Amino acid sequence: MIENICQVCAGQITFKCNKNGYSIFRCNDCAFLFVSPYPTDDEITNFYSSSYRGAKKDFYPKLNSRRRRAFLKALKFTRFIYGKKTIDIGCGGGIMAETFRRMGADSSGLDISKNSINFAKTNYPKCKFYCETFEENMKRDLRFDFIFTTELMEHLAGPHNFMRLIKASSKPKTHVYIATPDSSHNVVPSDISLWSDICPPEHLQWFNESNLKKLFSDYGFVLVKSYKKTSPALSLLFMKSE
Ligand SMILES: [Zn+2]
Repeated sequence: MIENICQVCAGQITFKCNKNGYSIFRCNDCAFLFVSPYPTDDEITNFYSSSYRGAKKDFYPKLNSRRRRAFLKALKFTRFIYGKKTIDIGCGGGIMAETFRRMGADSSGLDISKNSINFAKTNYPKCKFYCETFEENMKRDLRFDFIFTTELMEHLAGPHNFMRLIKASSKPKTHVYIATPDSSHNVVPSDISLWSDICPPEHLQWFNESNLKKLFSDYGFVLVKSYKKTSPALSLLFMKSE
């Protein structure tokens, strides 16, 4: 699909650069950066359903360090986890979902990668895992208290399917934690093609705090907290306000 206007604010867009055979545009108004045309859904599904990141049913790369980092990260969110219904969207091998479960959550995970979900189901059978698209997951009509999604948004071809799922999976006061690269961070080079996060087709869209805040606000969420990071990454907590 070719986008002629910004998908976040409908502003005019300007061509910025080519990278890996993809063209990258930036919104003149909100600075949302994105690949256009986006790869097709089939191209994206194929990319992740094969051997993405080397996951297999009985093997997940860097498992011990992932477990340790998941535990440290989850400590920030204890009050959204214990006794709550949680989902990790883009859960990979289910390490964070299992961490949430051990910390007292009714825990789920969703991922498009078959290998990752096979690993998750085999190793963490007390969590619920879904290997399906956002649209398919939405049809289940699930609601969560806490939605966790990291290193996912930058992989998507456009923000709206994802935002529809987030909204449909929320109720009033549901909290959503999101981490994604920060294109306005001061370590990002002015020639953005030199930024290591600009790596299509793996990454397809890049936000800053203000355009992500606008996007979430259009779906009924308010920004509750922005965690400071030294790396060029956004680390934001939103809450469903209505
Ligand atoms: Zn815009």
